[in-house]
Amino acid sequence: MTDDPVFRFAPSPNGRLHLGHALSALTTFELAKRMGGRFLLRIEDIDLGRSRDAYVTGILEDLEWLGLTWEEPVLRQSTRFDAYLEAAARLEQQGLLYRCAATRAEIRAAAGADPARDPDGAPLYTPACGYKGQDPGDPPCVGHGTPTALRLDMAAAIARLRYLQGNALLTYDAWDGGDQIRDVEARPDRWGDAILIRKDIPASYHLAVVVDDAFQAVTHVTRGRDLEPATDLHVLLQALLGLPQPIYHHHRLIADTDGRKLSKSARDTTLCELRATGTTPADIRRAVDLA
Ligand code: GLU
Repeated sequence: MTDDPVFRFAPSPNGRLHLGHALSALTTFELAKRMGGRFLLRIEDIDLGRSRDAYVTGILEDLEWLGLTWEEPVLRQSTRFDAYLEAAARLEQQGLLYRCAATRAEIRAAAGADPARDPDGAPLYTPACGYKGQDPGDPPCVGHGTPTALRLDMAAAIARLRYLQGNALLTYDAWDGGDQIRDVEARPDRWGDAILIRKDIPASYHLAVVVDDAFQAVTHVTRGRDLEPATDLHVLLQALLGLPQPIYHHHRLIADTDGRKLSKSARDTTLCELRATGTTPADIRRAVDLA
């Protein structure tokens, strides 16, 4: 082990990579090189229904073609369900999770006509059945059957956070990718009682990413601005689980590319299709404004 910074690119193999991924991968790789750091690749394939091995192969091919190199072995989240369940068990022991079997329809009905929404646009969850069973032996969500998800009891989590860190604000270091680091206040409450273990999969994006960033000793998380709100929940989970907090860089997203060599529709065109029509890695860099 060294003290070198550790960066990671963490695509989900449920489709081929496109220009947005190229910007993210190249930005992360180049920041890692500039900082004298390590660059890891992590395949975020917890969603077994949507992930495909062929897409994993495609991701590796596209990244190689772009000129990236990474450390082996590549971590696949589908091999890590035990670690996510273990982290959930630790939160459950602190009384911070509850079992919830509410269906989408029940959640919609409980939310009413104009509900407050989380940053992903989902109605903020209040238990449809008013039941927050916390004892693993409790019958889950009486009357709503199985299977159950495990949700974070946000009010209890924030109370626990206050206890753990006094009344200090929950903050994180937001890095501009250059020489500026700002202290940003996190507002995890805007996620409500987020699902940490899904009904269909023994994991969730939020829990898996936090557990694996710590497992891989990631020091710098570099990802798009669309994931900036998720960071608020991630730093809360790190505090509750006693995990180190990385520095966060949320990079720009690809804007429309009108008038460029690559047409506007190229934004949604996969790297694989662009390559097949003669686009070079240098063209890709220009298309994402990294040239
Ligand atoms: N797997 C996520 C995605 O493809 C990225 C997760 C992250 O960088 O934290 O959008």
